Amino acid sequence: FTSKLPEVGTTIFTKMSALAGAFDAINLAQGFPEFDCAPGLQALVSKYMKLGKNQYAPMAGVSALREAITQKINTYNHCSYDPDLEITITSGATEALYVAISAVVRPGDEVIVFEPAYDSYVPAIRMSGGVPVYVTLDPRFQKIDWEQVSTRISTRTRAIIVNTPNNPSGYVWTREDLLQLDTLASRHDLIVISDEVYEHIIFDGRKHLSVSSVKSLAERSFICGSFGKTFHITGWKLGYCLATAAFMVEFRKIHQFMVFSVITPFQFAIAEFLNEPEHYLELSAFYQRKRDLFNDALKATGFDIRPTEGSFFQNAGYAGLSEENDLALAERLTREIGVASIPVSSFYAAPVSYKVLRFCFAKNDDTLLKAAERLGKIS
Ligand code: PMP
Ligand code: GLN
Repeated sequence: FTSKLPEVGTTIFTKMSALAGAFDAINLAQGFPEFDCAPGLQALVSKYMKLGKNQYAPMAGVSALREAITQKINTYNHCSYDPDLEITITSGATEALYVAISAVVRPGDEVIVFEPAYDSYVPAIRMSGGVPVYVTLDPRFQKIDWEQVSTRISTRTRAIIVNTPNNPSGYVWTREDLLQLDTLASRHDLIVISDEVYEHIIFDGRKHLSVSSVKSLAERSFICGSFGKTFHITGWKLGYCLATAAFMVEFRKIHQFMVFSVITPFQFAIAEFLNEPEHYLELSAFYQRKRDLFNDALKATGFDIRPTEGSFFQNAGYAGLSEENDLALAERLTREIGVASIPVSSFYAAPVSYKVLRFCFAKNDDTLLKAAERLGKIS
């Protein structure tokens, strides 16, 4: 049969992890922590398994977890979502994003996508017959070009995808960005799909500003989150979606037939763990120290570093070090010096020639220091 996604291959994260494995390289490519989650969280999973919480969870997720999320966002984001009507637990942010996009996008609808873009947005848009319309920014952008955004909007624009903190640029949206978005979204009646999976990994005193912090935006948004980044449990594939009750009715119509519900004892465990805010409020300081350690160690290498504002990714320019394109360099560094990274061109639809690699610093200190030492020998 004819492929529905002819332009899609295997993701760059899978490819670079496989290459790292084949060459026994340090894997700073795919974004996942090298360290384990808290023993207390593991103990809670086994507690709830032993308590017999092993059958289907309710379609929307276990109520203890939805209630814990309501409590958390009440205090942390100062906004309120009804646990029964406005929150659904999903199989990672990936499912939340896919379902939100599927609920909103119809054939021929245009969706604004900022590039560099995380790789799951565009295939989801295409599967619904939508057309991605790109706002293309430098991989290390420090400002959103709102002029460019407004020129991309047409009468067919249905939705806009936000990602703050951004993977891979590390850019963190400002209050001004949210206000600009609010103006455009209300003028053109756009739906906002906001990917906020790195909400708790944010540096230098910045604050995460969820789209839900602006009431008029919250009313037109699906907010997608993940526990994977926050609790070092990317393998659990647990996330959630927040939206108004009317939006959530449509979201759940699709979620119930995509997965119906997600893994029960793990939801109970996270619900209990979430009640202690130190488990997520200390994360930014934890990762900021790692960012700084890695960046200091890279100083001697000649890579051009501008410290990332949020997420656990550091982009590094290599224009002064090599003429190679980013994919060729990322592959060569994996094979020859044993450090895997992600070429940032993979976050763009059309070919681009930025000389930038993305490194994940969610790793133990000695791994980061060893990688930086190897990166000193790239030429
Ligand atoms: N969005 C972004 C920006 C990500 O980096 C990731 C990371 N994997 C995801 C979504 C997917 O999150 P999850 O693993 O919870 O599906
Ligand atoms: N979000 C992770 C990254 O950006 C990858 C997740 C995946 O492999 N799909 O590296």
